[in-house]
Amino acid sequence: MIDTPDTYVRERATEGRKDLRYPAAPAPLAVPVYDNHCHLEIADGEVGLSLQEQLDRAQAVGIAGVVQASGDVESSRWAVDAAESDPRVLAAVAIHPNDAPTYAEAGRLDEAIAVIDGLAARPRTRAIGETGLDYFRTEEPGRAAQHTSFEAHIALAKKHGIAMQIHDRDAHDDVLETLRRVGAPDRTVFHCFSGDAAMARICADAGYYLSFA
Ligand SMILES: [Zn+2]
Repeated sequence: MIDTPDTYVRERATEGRKDLRYPAAPAPLAVPVYDNHCHLEIADGEVGLSLQEQLDRAQAVGIAGVVQASGDVESSRWAVDAAESDPRVLAAVAIHPNDAPTYAEAGRLDEAIAVIDGLAARPRTRAIGETGLDYFRTEEPGRAAQHTSFEAHIALAKKHGIAMQIHDRDAHDDVLETLRRVGAPDRTVFHCFSGDAAMARICADAGYYLSFA
């Protein structure tokens, strides 16, 4: 079932978060920018805002558009629907590294990646993401599935000629090794970069982009 962009596929865990009110809007940016990594499907705030309302609020302070990142089949479909419903949204589609073991355990990883392949062909899909490796949340038994999924996603980004957003948590060496071994897509973004200066240098020399969010 495909959710329409106005219904949310996820709800953020609210334990320990006492104040759910949105902060006041900041001063508008000096120049308009695109936010290359959003999760607008997550219901947040005391009352969840619609996709339209979120985009309107962002646009009012200089966010001209967003790339909606995904982590499973449902959120990837949501991202494509959102991108096709509003010109301010572009879609990134993927199975998240922490979701890959769950699909693999159910014997459904290949099927899920095939769905991502189909969604990656849609005209408003401009990135594969987020994909990568996460050794912080996934223990040893799940890591083989992460590696399989990561390499399959790298192949999809190249096949469709689109960018790739990497999620790398406590897995710097293996992420870099994988990219070196199989070859990175032309446009590779380390989302929420968490490496040190030496790793940043390696990434910069390889032509990868680093983002802090
Ligand atoms: Zn993300």
